[in-house]
Amino acid sequence: MPARIPLRRHRRTKIVATLGPASSSPEMIERLYRAGADVFRLNFSHGSHEDHAARIAAIRAVEGKVGRPIAILADVQGPKLRVGKFGAGRVQLAPGRRFRLDLSPTPGDVQRVQLPHPEIIAAARIGTTLLLDDGKLRLRVVRQVEGDHLETEVVVGGPLSDRKGVNVPDVALPIPALTEKDRADLAFVLPLGVEYIGLSFVQRAEDVEEAKAIAAGRAWIMVKMEKPQAVENMDAILAAADCVMVARGDLGVELPPEEVPLVQKRLVRAARALGKPVVVATQMLESMISAPAPTRAEASDVATAVFDGADAVMLSAETAAGQYPVEAVTMMDRILARTEQDPGWRAQTDAQRPEPEHNSAGAIAAAAAQVARTISAQAIATFTSTASTTLRVARERPACPILGLTSHLASARRLGVVWGVHPLVVQDIHSMTEMVARASRAAQQEGFARHGEEIVVTAGVPFGTPGTTNALRVAAVK
Ligand code: PGA
Ligand code: MN
Repeated sequence: MPARIPLRRHRRTKIVATLGPASSSPEMIERLYRAGADVFRLNFSHGSHEDHAARIAAIRAVEGKVGRPIAILADVQGPKLRVGKFGAGRVQLAPGRRFRLDLSPTPGDVQRVQLPHPEIIAAARIGTTLLLDDGKLRLRVVRQVEGDHLETEVVVGGPLSDRKGVNVPDVALPIPALTEKDRADLAFVLPLGVEYIGLSFVQRAEDVEEAKAIAAGRAWIMVKMEKPQAVENMDAILAAADCVMVARGDLGVELPPEEVPLVQKRLVRAARALGKPVVVATQMLESMISAPAPTRAEASDVATAVFDGADAVMLSAETAAGQYPVEAVTMMDRILARTEQDPGWRAQTDAQRPEPEHNSAGAIAAAAAQVARTISAQAIATFTSTASTTLRVARERPACPILGLTSHLASARRLGVVWGVHPLVVQDIHSMTEMVARASRAAQQEGFARHGEEIVVTAGVPFGTPGTTNALRVAAVK
């Protein structure tokens, strides 16, 4: 890679920025990166394959220009349920009225509309709630006519327009998390090279296994926790996943609002205990879609995610379709950096530290963080091929920066979402002496340590054996 741009100040919590119409020019992508975006998200619910391919090319061009690995999240739509179209484009549904959902593509009216999902029509029961348009409208099933249509009563009315989303929180959907469209999107995007696949509406561990089989190691699977059923099955789903997103948009429709903050805390804690990166997403700086500054409640929400221990926070429409994409990233960066300076945050982070994994790799990672703290080391340099050593150290949330040194570009990019990690591509190393020399040089070059200052170095030996973490050294920077 060419000469690296100077390091930004050390911020631990990462920023995921969604690209869309407001942010797809190469210039804008570069501005977002320079403002602090660590990961770019491509939302496959919108845009053509050509659009996404152009964005990937632009991101890789920025990567080449700044000389630092950048991560890409390809977020596939999953079985997002939607109503069909209306003759008039929209209708007004009044509370107490009947409304029918059926399979006919005939344009809808105030009495009926298409729900092109026979599985849902079959799985619903009398009393099942259907939420429309992000939960703004609420219908209750009063009669189910043999797999053909549902008669509902409008509980909460309002305007309903073409292709609005439908959520069915009470029902475990008898459908897999990957639709035909998702499979086509994966077949298109995996060969282009992305770091994570966002798997929407996961309900069971088998959904994750299916995606993993398709990705075949080419990308990490990021499970989007947005169904109550997924939260119920979280142990199995998180065990199968590579990383996690707390997808509060759909989760907040499917669960009552008062549950969302607690589920966020549970998921972040569980992911951190497993050492798997976790992203808190949706509506974080929502008002910045149309305003240059956030509400104070939004700033507080971002800080809360930092206190909860998230690896990353995400911007959706703020950067994809808003009027202030660069300002949103800049603001996110400011809130994160400021929160991480708070002594109370540090104390809470330490207090929430999960027990070390009960194996030698877990012990070495915990020891690396402990040694670094005791001697006030300037950095922990981790050598890794699959990213696992670096993930183990990040799980400890050490006080000093973590260098993720790897000869694998794919691993360096994947470390983009990981808390506290500065990924760097280095040449293969073959000995401990070489390892210490390389770490010392990297720490110095990246501005973390000066001559004579100490760093902690950790790796798996023999080098290049994936999954081991067994070596720990302290070195003075030469
Ligand atoms: P989405 O996922 O933006 O793809 O819906 C995130 C969420 O639901 O929060
Ligand atoms: Mn969603």
